[in-house]
Amino acid sequence: MKKKILVTGGAGFLGSHLCEKLLNEGNEVFCLDNFFTGQKRNVIHLLSNPYFELIRHDITMPFFIEADEIYNLGCPASPVHYQYNAIKTIKTSVMGSVHMLGLAKRIKAKILQASTSEVYGDPEIHPQTEEYWGNVNPIGPRSCYDEGKRCAESLFMNYHTQNQVKIKIARIFNTYGPRMHPNDGRVVSNFIVQALKNEDITIYGDGSQTRSFCFVDDLIDGLIDIMNTADDIIGPLNIGNPHEFSIRYLAEKVIQLTGSQSKIIYRPLPQDDPMQRKPDISKLNQVIDWAPTTQLEEGLRKTIEYFKNI
Ligand code: NAD
Ligand code: UDP
Repeated sequence: MKKKILVTGGAGFLGSHLCEKLLNEGNEVFCLDNFFTGQKRNVIHLLSNPYFELIRHDITMPFFIEADEIYNLGCPASPVHYQYNAIKTIKTSVMGSVHMLGLAKRIKAKILQASTSEVYGDPEIHPQTEEYWGNVNPIGPRSCYDEGKRCAESLFMNYHTQNQVKIKIARIFNTYGPRMHPNDGRVVSNFIVQALKNEDITIYGDGSQTRSFCFVDDLIDGLIDIMNTADDIIGPLNIGNPHEFSIRYLAEKVIQLTGSQSKIIYRPLPQDDPMQRKPDISKLNQVIDWAPTTQLEEGLRKTIEYFKNI
């Protein structure tokens, strides 16, 4: 059955892939975005679809529409962008969630929050399980994002227990792929853009810090599967690729795959930059049969191809 689905942040990196997949599955999609980090270019190919609507709106302001489901992705995700206007980032996570939860309550829609592995901060346990409460500096440069997302999780839980809103909380770990903004500042896009221009590759710190990167197509499949779980499954659920590697390894891989002349240079590690990160996805696998299928090399090749063409 065709569902009406609202996607906030729908013109962003993840949001545009999500809108596309939901449309391909035969749904009607309302894409809401203020175009802070999102771009029309990401969804331009969807505009001719009569079941797709692009709406310019800032979720720090109330919004009303009839929908069956809401995916709340509206929030800048790269450290450079979320620190650009830290207060606005907090408002987006907190007021945006209040507005979307209020809407979900009123129209009885199911709502999924795009939370983040950043709720674990610089984690002291490894890999991270959902039971771990995290190690977040509440006043550091990343706190506008981390604490905003933590407060959003609290709002989701409280709308669920107090108002019986049907919620899903997905804690997304690092994801990469085509349609990342070239000036996004996140590591995969930075390294690929630098490599393609034969510019120096900037490793922050000594490159021994680790991340676990998931290719966007895998992530989107998982997010939709989470939305489709039974109403008593509310999360939080980690979602990401448990394959962990160092940032130095990533730099070398990007140089190899692009055939670049770039040299690696080292820059200071930003404050509160997490040293290691890897999702434990066993809880997710109790409720959906999901595993990332795209290997790093294959995902990087697709992403490199994208950046070559823009
Ligand atoms: P992105 O920056 O490409 O997308 C965010 C989108 O939200 C953009 O289109 C932006 O214009 C929009 N937006 C920002 N503030 C808004 C506001 N006030 N009102 C309306 N729209 C607004 O980032 P992304 O990687 O696609 O991330 C999407 C969501 O997933 C974010 O909520 C992010 O926190 C979460 N997430 C992403 C990752 C990842 O690795 N990509 C990891 C964890 C969580
Ligand atoms: N990083 C880097 N060079 C860059 C951009 C990022 O070495 O040009 C590092 C960054 O310090 C962090 C890791 O790569 O340790 C991942 O950074 P990103 O911003 O992509 O994601 P997050 O830190 O939010 O996981």
